[in-house]
Amino acid sequence: MSRAINFGAGPAAIPLEVLQEAQEQFLDFNGTGISIMEASHRSKAYEGVHNNAIALMRELYAIPDDYDVLFLQGGASLQFAMIPMNLTLGGKVQYVDTGVWSSKAIKEAKIQNLNVEVVASSKERNYDYIPENIVFDDNADYAYITSNNTIFGTQYREYPSTKAPLVVDASSDIFSYPIDWSKVSLMFAGAQKNAGPSGTTIVIIKKSLLDRVGENVPTMLRYKTHAAENSLFNTPPTFGIYLLGLTLQWIKRQGGIKAVQANNEKKAKLIYNAIDNSNGFYIGHAQKSSRSLMNVAFNIKDKDAEIEAKLIKLSEKSNMIGLKGHRSVGGLRASIYNAVSVEDVRALVDLMESFAKENS
Ligand SMILES: *Cc1c(COP(=O)(O)O)cnc(C)c1O
Repeated sequence: MSRAINFGAGPAAIPLEVLQEAQEQFLDFNGTGISIMEASHRSKAYEGVHNNAIALMRELYAIPDDYDVLFLQGGASLQFAMIPMNLTLGGKVQYVDTGVWSSKAIKEAKIQNLNVEVVASSKERNYDYIPENIVFDDNADYAYITSNNTIFGTQYREYPSTKAPLVVDASSDIFSYPIDWSKVSLMFAGAQKNAGPSGTTIVIIKKSLLDRVGENVPTMLRYKTHAAENSLFNTPPTFGIYLLGLTLQWIKRQGGIKAVQANNEKKAKLIYNAIDNSNGFYIGHAQKSSRSLMNVAFNIKDKDAEIEAKLIKLSEKSNMIGLKGHRSVGGLRASIYNAVSVEDVRALVDLMESFAKENS
C-alpha cells in the first residue's frame, strides 16, 4: 500500500486512523454481521452511530442547547438556496462577497427575488482580502459570510458582530478553531473538506430560527422538518455520518478543537514562512492579514505558468497530490485541513525551498 500526501481542496484528506478504523469495521460493524452501510437507518446499530456523532459534535464544538445539529444532503450548495427559503421574513438579506462561494450564495438569494444587499466585497482585488469593518444592518433578516474562502485562501480572523442572525458558510474550516456561538445563528458545511467524505451537509442552527419558514417551502427543504425528526425524516447519508463520527473521535484524541487549531497554526506558519522567505520567488495570493490557515494559494514570481507546472510535476514525483491552484488564481494551492499533518507540510516546504534555490 502506498498513501499519497493529499493537499487536495475537497474531497480532501481524511485521517489515516479513521480510514483504518472504518476498514476494520467494514464487513462486520460491532458484531452485527453487516456493514454499517447495510444497516437500516432505523436500526439500533445505526441509531448509536447517529446520536454519538451529534453528541460528540456538541461536546467538541461546545454547541449550546438552543441549537440543533442537522445532517442534510445536497452539499453546501443546496444551503445557498435553503438559507433564504428558511430565514427570510420579507425584509432585506445582507451578504459579504469574498469569493466564488459567496457569489454563488448571493445568486441563489437573488433567484428567490429577495431584497439582497452586498454590504462589502473584495471582488475588485480578485478576492485577496477579507473586508474590514463590515457593518450589517441589525434589522436585516440575516447577515451572511463565508468564513474561509477555499479558492482564494482568505479567512476571517474574527466574525463580524451584528444583531441580525449571522449565517456562516464554514465548509472549509469547520472544526478547525473554537466558535463563539453568541455571534453565530446558523453554521453550515459540506463535510468533504474537514469533516469526512462528501454526501453529508452539517447544519448547526439556532432553534429560534426554525419557525420562520414560509408555507410554500417544500417539506424536505425546511430545516424544521429535519430538526423535528433528529435528521431521520428520510434516509440520511448513513455511511458519511458514520465517518464524520469517527473523524470527531479522532479530533477528540488529538486533544479537541483547540489542539487541532494549534496544529493548524503551526502548519500554516511553515508554509507562509517559506513564501515570505523566498525573496519573492513565491507570492502568496492573500494579503497577510487575511491569510487562511486551511488553504494556501500562491504563485511563482511573474506567475510563470511553466515553472508552476514544473513544481506541480515535481511534487507528484514526491508523492504529493492536489497542489494545482484553482483556475481563478492559477499557480498552486496547498489545502492543509485538519487531517494533513505537520510532517506532510514539512515535506512540501522542503520541496518548495529546494525548488526555489534551483529555479531562482
Ligand atoms: C466546497 C465549498 C462549497 C461547495 O460545497 P458543495 O458541498 O460541493 O456544494 C461551498 N462553500 C465553500 C466555502 C466551499 O469550500
